Amino acid sequence: MELSSEAAAIRETVREFALEEIRPTARSADETGQFPEAVWNGLAELELTAMTVPEEYGGLDVDGLTYALVNEWVAYGQLAVATALSVHCLATSCIAVFGDDAQRERWLPEMVDGRPVGAFALSEPDAGSNPAEMSTEARRVGDDYVVNGTKQWITNGERSGVVILFAKTDSDDPSSITQFVVPKDVDGLSVGAPESKLGLRASDTTTLVFDDVRVPAANRLTPEGEGLSAALSILTGGRVGIAAQSVGLAQSALDLATDYAQQREQFGEPIAEIQTIRHKLAEMRTNVQAGRLLTYDAANALDGDEPPAAAASMAKYFASEAAMDVTNEAVQIHGGYGYTTEYPVERLYRDARVTTIYEGTTEIQKEIVARDLLG
Ligand SMILES: Cc1cc2nc3c(=O)[nH]c(=O)nc-3n(C[C@H](O)[C@H](O)[C@H](O)COP(=O)(O)OP(=O)(O)OC[C@H]3O[C@@H](n4cnc5c(N)ncnc54)[C@H](O)[C@@H]3O)c2cc1C
Repeated sequence: MELSSEAAAIRETVREFALEEIRPTARSADETGQFPEAVWNGLAELELTAMTVPEEYGGLDVDGLTYALVNEWVAYGQLAVATALSVHCLATSCIAVFGDDAQRERWLPEMVDGRPVGAFALSEPDAGSNPAEMSTEARRVGDDYVVNGTKQWITNGERSGVVILFAKTDSDDPSSITQFVVPKDVDGLSVGAPESKLGLRASDTTTLVFDDVRVPAANRLTPEGEGLSAALSILTGGRVGIAAQSVGLAQSALDLATDYAQQREQFGEPIAEIQTIRHKLAEMRTNVQAGRLLTYDAANALDGDEPPAAAASMAKYFASEAAMDVTNEAVQIHGGYGYTTEYPVERLYRDARVTTIYEGTTEIQKEIVARDLLG
């Protein structure tokens, strides 16, 4: 697919940043479970934390394809960094799309610099694939809402300073879900212990516990009852971002496996000469490219009038399943070395696992595609 000169330039900048700044810290960030804050500062300097903010608030307001390219190449460096960035962008998008002028003016000019970091709090212990089952309540009391409940799996849970919160204004009514913007330092909001995860270990994933948290009505981003549809429309763009991240992660595994196959010799020749290995690489490359084309197609459609839900879901499930297959084969091509932390494909294999789960599982994406097809 031909890229505009502007998109190609951004891709090149992010690719260089991924190779020179993100990749070198990826292993230690994974091992220590510490998010690489210096890398985040670098992303902010490149204005990538401002990607989805309108220009009048200091943002870049990039088109869908550019958003995908940035996600792809940041994830080429490390998925945990791309995940943190895309969730920050989900948060700024919610304020940009649903906020009024006063709310945009209050939050966006500082969030473009990446501090405060944004979080997106939809999921709960008992409400994942079906967020309508959430139990967090925001009860109106005078000019405030009083929020009680627990949000789970919140990316940037610890690092964030601003949380986009979804809560029911009537605990008995699933159609009362409403969207709020909440500063993290508000009384009664506490952060749980970090989840101990299979992969994505440098990404901070926590619970957020709301205990009689008073949120001014002025912080409500949608009318009461319009929060869930707002979340789902924003997640369409989010899923294109995850699809792009899956492509970047898989490309990274493919590149590492290609290099390794050309260097590693067995039976007196590089294993890249063995037809089985060659065909593995051919299949991996085809999977990466198919995921990329579906992703770019959905990304371009983000600039249209309607959120391209089915296209985003096709891209998300195909590219994430492809990332699992490609990283699996990359480990196989590395043999025993691929099973050790000495080689980055081990981390890529673990990281890939989450891409078919977060922002809607593969099963849910297929349901969205089937519903679009069948009605
Ligand atoms: C590392 C990580 C980071 C995350 N970050 C965030 C975040 O920042 N903010 C946030 O709000 N959430 C976040 N999530 C939550 C994530 O979006 C949910 O985990 C995901 O939506 C699945 O929900 P669940 O875990 O409750 O699984 P469940 O909904 O319990 O699903 C369990 C299984 O049942 C299947 N299933 C459920 N319903 C159906 C159905 N109708 N048809 C077919 N199959 C079905 C699922 O596909 C899955 O295989 C994160 C999760 C992880 C792991």
